[in-house]
Amino acid sequence: MTDKSNPRVLVVEDELAIREMLGFTLARAGFEVLEAEDTREATDLIARTRPDVVLLDWMLPGISGIDFARRLRREEVTRELPIIMLTARGEEASKLKGFAVGADDYITKPFSTQELIARIKALLRRSGIEREDEMVVIEGLSLDTAGHRVNIKGKTVKLGPTEFRLLHFFMTHPERVYSRDQLLDQVWGNQVYIEDRTVDVHIRRLRKALAPFDYDQHVQTVRGSGYRFSKQV
Ligand code: CA
Repeated sequence: MTDKSNPRVLVVEDELAIREMLGFTLARAGFEVLEAEDTREATDLIARTRPDVVLLDWMLPGISGIDFARRLRREEVTRELPIIMLTARGEEASKLKGFAVGADDYITKPFSTQELIARIKALLRRSGIEREDEMVVIEGLSLDTAGHRVNIKGKTVKLGPTEFRLLHFFMTHPERVYSRDQLLDQVWGNQVYIEDRTVDVHIRRLRKALAPFDYDQHVQTVRGSGYRFSKQV
């Protein structure tokens, strides 16, 4: 399982039986799987292997999953690392806490393997990490999902991960107006703690990145409705 086109999942779980079951299931579903039994091992693996997504158990010996998630969100290199928290049934309060510290999704044990795989894929898609070799080109602007690159007439446009996802969504859904709520659903997923204003912040950053190439006018504000990506300026 060293094929670079397979998304890499890090499983952080202290219970051997569950860890092995997850490893086996995910490997069979086509993921490259890394396993850690505590956060110390996880920290080391993240630094060395840069996983695409982390499945993080809530109850771990030493540093808990929740504290570890908080730590990952604080660090520059892991700030955008997609995290799915695993918890036991009946810990509803922990769900909110999990989202509050920045987990992207949450799954309750026991779960079906199909559900888990679907959640991981959905999260990878939302994070712009799903590695379909897709190239979207509009008006000289090209976005390459495999290489995570954006070019305008051969020049590289530097974008943060969120701006990249936003632009990808716009380019694959041009000429339609989306409200802030719709953009949050489509680009950020079900992270309940994100405010509408966040959309404006990232739209501003996206325009700023496109401005040197005179492409910022393609990202249009539709008064009272939201935003639209249009070929016409
Ligand atoms: Ca555990």
